[in-house]
Amino acid sequence: MKKYAVVGNPVGHSLSPSIHSIFAKTASIDLEYHAVEAQKDNFETSILRLFDDGYEGLNITLPFKELAYEISQVRSSLSLETQSINTLWKEGNSLCGDSTDGKGLMNDFRAKGLEIKNKKLVIIGAGGSAKAILPCILDLCPSEIRIINRTKDKAKALSSKINLPNVSVSYSDLETPIDIEIDGVINTSSAGTLNEKIFLPKNLFSSSPWTYNLNYSESAKSFNSKALNEGSKTVHDGLGMLFHQAALSFEIWTGIKPDVDEAIRILRG
Ligand code: NDP
Repeated sequence: MKKYAVVGNPVGHSLSPSIHSIFAKTASIDLEYHAVEAQKDNFETSILRLFDDGYEGLNITLPFKELAYEISQVRSSLSLETQSINTLWKEGNSLCGDSTDGKGLMNDFRAKGLEIKNKKLVIIGAGGSAKAILPCILDLCPSEIRIINRTKDKAKALSSKINLPNVSVSYSDLETPIDIEIDGVINTSSAGTLNEKIFLPKNLFSSSPWTYNLNYSESAKSFNSKALNEGSKTVHDGLGMLFHQAALSFEIWTGIKPDVDEAIRILRG
């Protein structure tokens, strides 16, 4: 039986084993998918040992996506841009990697009818996931991006990487009120997942037709309610993105495109 795993720390809460088991069932193939906790100090050794033990593909989650990028020998062009990898596999003796987070988010946007082209977007957060999704967002030609982050310098650093003639870019901290009309808000902060409070700027949601929160756990609910109460017309959590990025990994490993809508229906019962 083919074996796959998600590697992270902590990893016990991961939905990936359930999602990939559903994909395998709906595609009528047999596979095992495990959750493996790794340590930073011997991350590379642990990964190589898993492949030696017969694993055919690995997903990489917090906090190892940058490390996975560093140890990969063959990197997709997107992962070269994001400098983070969430999907590993072997070709011959080479360790290959790709980043499916951004494409997964864009597939979920498409499924939900959320438009990016010529839109003004606010991205909350400037960490790993913000870096991972930004190239895919820019590919769809927004007119304006404002990156807001608790640590302003990180927002500045991320925004300085965007250099496109038709995209207006700005950054600020979380205290500065929003002074532009917004078409959509994307929350990439980990405050919810970490069960921490997040201070948000005035007017953030007042003109926003939609809000997308990458967080998909129970703790996403308070952010989502705030967005709705303060003016956002619709709010989406990150469960769809999670399924879509997993589907892209599954396709890389098996060549089979899983039915994401059907898989979400099965998981939700
Ligand atoms: P990182 O640790 O790389 O970045 C965290 C970001 O959140 C930073 O910008 C940080 O700001 C900000 N932040 C953390 N705590 C607070 C707080 N209390 N108040 C304000 N800002 C805060 O994490 P990732 O980017 O990798 O992940 C972020 C979230 O995205 C997680 O919840 C994760 O679960 C989710 N995610 C969901 C996916 C999906 O498929 N749905 C895929 C990938 C991620 P600062 O710079 O100031 O520290």
